[in-house]
Amino acid sequence: MKHFNLLGLPEALNRALHHMQFSKPTPIQAQTIPHALEGRDILGSAQTGTGKTAAFGIPLVARLLSNPRGSALVMTPTRELATQVMSQLQAMLGKRSQLKTALLIGGESMPKQLKQLRSRPRLLVGTPGRINDHLQQGNLMLHDTGMLVLDETDRMLDMGFTSQIERILKFIPKTRQTMLFSATLPNSIVKISEKYLNNPVRIAVDKTVSPAKKIRHDVLRVSEEEKYRKLLSELDARTGSVIVFVKTKYGTEKMARQLSKAGHNADAIHGDLRQNIRNRVITNFRNQKYRILVATDVAARGLDIPHIEHVINYDLPQCAEDYIHRIGRTARAGAEGSAMCLVTPANTGKWNAINRLMNPDAVNKKSNNKKYKKRTGKPSDFKNDGKKFSRCINREAA
Ligand code: ADP
Ligand code: MG
Repeated sequence: MKHFNLLGLPEALNRALHHMQFSKPTPIQAQTIPHALEGRDILGSAQTGTGKTAAFGIPLVARLLSNPRGSALVMTPTRELATQVMSQLQAMLGKRSQLKTALLIGGESMPKQLKQLRSRPRLLVGTPGRINDHLQQGNLMLHDTGMLVLDETDRMLDMGFTSQIERILKFIPKTRQTMLFSATLPNSIVKISEKYLNNPVRIAVDKTVSPAKKIRHDVLRVSEEEKYRKLLSELDARTGSVIVFVKTKYGTEKMARQLSKAGHNADAIHGDLRQNIRNRVITNFRNQKYRILVATDVAARGLDIPHIEHVINYDLPQCAEDYIHRIGRTARAGAEGSAMCLVTPANTGKWNAINRLMNPDAVNKKSNNKKYKKRTGKPSDFKNDGKKFSRCINREAA
């Protein structure tokens, strides 16, 4: 497909896409949109940064615009992602759209959301926890929801949202259209899709467990003592926006303070910050008010900030798949980026597991060792990598 305007989309949507400088669909969009416009269920997977939001957003907005009674619910794992998805969908609806929306996320004031809900919104975007709160308090009705999107489903399951999602699904009519998107397709997701999707079109673009292409990867072997000093010199050696991943919530704030003292422009984000502070941190980073964002995995999930040029893994992630999501923060939509890992001797095992996930072929070629072979390839194989480095299941939100 060469151009969006060949799809027969509503004119207002064509204009909005033009305004957003979206002209040519990405592969996941090209494959998803025609089926979704027909009302088919979709099970879509593609690596991060490939344009999944518009893959569901375009058909969703098209159907909302052409059916004055249609309504849609989009669920995402984090508040930031919900905010981001909402703003992309609103951009597609266009500035002059009268269509009412509601953003249902935790950490934000209930009265504001109640006001939005009373305005009879036809587009709802939110996180499972808060959506459930509204359902339980009787603020929210979903019985005429015609479209449901589960975005970043792998992450929602990793964060322990499975039962919350199932509870919400009971309120939505079975005749709906459902679109499920995920960066990876582990068994748990295939199972959910069998239960909740109706004869879906299955669309997988590229290998699901491989990072975006134009990323330069560097590894720095360091001792625990020299780690911070090395980080400083790496930051000095780079220009452009950087995201630094650390393990703990407390660690993000401490690191941001230390970096600021060392003369860098830095701020921190993690899941315990109040929502208005998180919003401010993200907005300021987006507007390049400071250069370095120090983050935990959950807080950074799905963030789409085009100018991030470097991802520095100060601490390695809890599980190998998180690594792919981390480095997906850079080199978005075909731009170039770099990723660097600081690996201490204590972390060598973790680093090897990440390498096996990223380059299964290389490991196979290098080693004929049977034990090794068994562990390459599918991410689900990593659950045997020991307690210290298990897959991301039911991990506490960072
Ligand atoms: P994903 O959900 O797959 O990680 P996003 O939907 O967040 O990816 O998109 C990544 C970036 O690509 C965003 O900045 C988005 O605005 C941009 N983008 C998506 N589709 C297109 C397109 N067809 N043309 C230009 N830019 C696009
Ligand atoms: Mg996404």
